[in-house]
Amino acid sequence: MTSPLLDTEGLNRCIHCGLCLEACPTYRITRLETESPRGRLHLMSAIASGRVDPRESDAAVLHLDRCLACRACEAVCPSGVPYGELIEEARADIARARGTPALGKLALWSVSRPRVLGALASLLALGDRTGLRAVARRILPPRLRRLDALAPPSGRPAYRPVAVDAPRASVALLLGCVMRVSYGDVHTATARVLARLGTRVVEVVDQTCCGALHAHAGDNAEAIRLAKRNIAAFERSGAEAIITNAAGCGAHLKSYVHLLERDPVWAKRAAMIASRVRDINEYLAVADGATFGELAIRVTYQDPCHLAHAQGIRAEPRALLGRVRGLELIEMADADVCCGSAGYYNLAQPDYADRLLEGKIDAILATRPDAVVTANPGCMLQLAAGLRSRGQNIPVLHVVEILDRAMRTP
Ligand code: SF4
Ligand code: SF4
Repeated sequence: MTSPLLDTEGLNRCIHCGLCLEACPTYRITRLETESPRGRLHLMSAIASGRVDPRESDAAVLHLDRCLACRACEAVCPSGVPYGELIEEARADIARARGTPALGKLALWSVSRPRVLGALASLLALGDRTGLRAVARRILPPRLRRLDALAPPSGRPAYRPVAVDAPRASVALLLGCVMRVSYGDVHTATARVLARLGTRVVEVVDQTCCGALHAHAGDNAEAIRLAKRNIAAFERSGAEAIITNAAGCGAHLKSYVHLLERDPVWAKRAAMIASRVRDINEYLAVADGATFGELAIRVTYQDPCHLAHAQGIRAEPRALLGRVRGLELIEMADADVCCGSAGYYNLAQPDYADRLLEGKIDAILATRPDAVVTANPGCMLQLAAGLRSRGQNIPVLHVVEILDRAMRTP
């Protein structure tokens, strides 16, 4: 069986130099070539040529499954290997050959249905209010206890649009799936920060989940369906820019170009929308003359993989934090190494995810911060769970939450 999806030109760009090895979190844990980017590219080439059949080789599939898709390898590759695209293509091939595991199917089915996510969030909130969740936690089997520990916070306020008189600019905001139901207040903080700079967030009613999780898991058909719906919705909004405050979603919206490049009807529309996508850090960092107020706080910053590696946005969040008077930013060791969240990796590959999280929490605690700052909901959930498991009451905040608090002091 050969692969119809894998881009052999991209695979052939690998010159086997090994410069990516030390950037790869799974290689750093195992020191195994098969758990390295170079080894995984070799496996993908074997699948592409038909030398390895994913229906028969559990070992090859396992090594590819253990990839975080963090794209740290892509960021350091001197040969321009498009690793992020290749791993998604490989996973689409594997999903075609073997189907998607039940846990993955359930996660993917839920995230593209806001009502299902909303109902789950309400159930968690009810469990918290009545104390039933705490009781259940004591009797749940370990796997479900893990799921509970990583569940989004309940009871945070929903997104509330912010009015702007005589706006100087209008932007759309991707509401997403997990962000929409669990971090609505981060969306409101984003809208408030933008409003203080004279930018209005327009309503885009038909937008939906960006489809990043589906693409990462190899569910191309659903990823394409969601992408087309978003493209049509954002076109209708007429907004000058599409703002995201979830690094994984932003990287995926920008990659709609690649997802739809072979579609004669949608390729141009995808390219147009992708060119308007801006991460909130990217957008605010170029706001001329903007000041971001004052907040006396000591923080450390965790680079989300899909902000640092996939979008090359590292300096901007640090520059924004640096513009808050009184804020002290202490860099942690290996700030851009994956925390182990990676979509639903922390559920599918708990051993590797836990080892990465342990190292991350050690690095955070060494900086003795008042708060940890990052820019992606998956990282926020993972870091909060890791800190809780060590008995630490350190809040995990989004960059815009810091700016929003600081801007209350002009
Ligand atoms: S750095 Fe790039 S070219 Fe070198 S081994 Fe890694 S993927 Fe291949
Ligand atoms: S995407 Fe991340 S985990 Fe996967 S091979 Fe590259 S560096 Fe390693």
